Amino acid sequence: MTRDELRTNLNFYKDLGIDEIYLRPISSPVRVEGATLTAPTAIPSLAPEGDTLLKIRQDIGDDCRRCRLCEARSKIVFGSGNEQSSLVFVGEGPGADEDAQGFPFVGRAGQLLTQMIENTATKEGIPIRRPDVYICNVVKCRPPENRTPQPDEMEICGQFLFRQLMAIRPKAICAMGSTAAKALLGTKEGVTKLRGKWHKWRDIQVMVTYHPSYLLRPYNQEAKRESWEDLKKVLHFVYD
Ligand code: SF4
Repeated sequence: MTRDELRTNLNFYKDLGIDEIYLRPISSPVRVEGATLTAPTAIPSLAPEGDTLLKIRQDIGDDCRRCRLCEARSKIVFGSGNEQSSLVFVGEGPGADEDAQGFPFVGRAGQLLTQMIENTATKEGIPIRRPDVYICNVVKCRPPENRTPQPDEMEICGQFLFRQLMAIRPKAICAMGSTAAKALLGTKEGVTKLRGKWHKWRDIQVMVTYHPSYLLRPYNQEAKRESWEDLKKVLHFVYD
């Protein structure tokens, strides 16, 4: 990596609120105003020490324009729920209702997610409600026409997701849909192949399942049943 590329990368991370990156030392550290890099290797996505959801939200800012998804959004949808939760649900991105209200999973898919969490928990004797978990998305702004976020958008905004996950440090993450699975596991495998089994993001267990909006389609009854199975596994793993 050239010094110019390093500088560009450092500025990118500085923009995300990451001021210092510590790697293996080299003889001449590269300094960028407010940021230091001490190794020539690729920069990992590290959360700053003592990172908090509040700081991450402040770093995003009220008018983030780091990717093209800013162009059509109304509100940035950061995430909601218990900030110390042992379980985080990750979806793809805000839809129209979420964009209007500024909160994740408040439309029809969100209502289904709430029902799934609360009904499964009740049936399994686990005393949790939706506000006990944390819910967020890979991208914080609504993609136009609800299209799938593009790789560069996922990469740019995904850094905030990674910081959220590092700040919360849940016992498990439930990745809903292929975009969340791709962002966390870096895989191109479809949900059908990935679901129902444990994977890992860093040292945190990840369960992949279908996105609730997929389950709303009437011909997806089997997927719905499989999602309930996945959710049962997650809830027992986290709360037993
Ligand atoms: S999707 Fe993320 S990176 Fe892109 S503009 Fe919105 S908050 Fe910023």
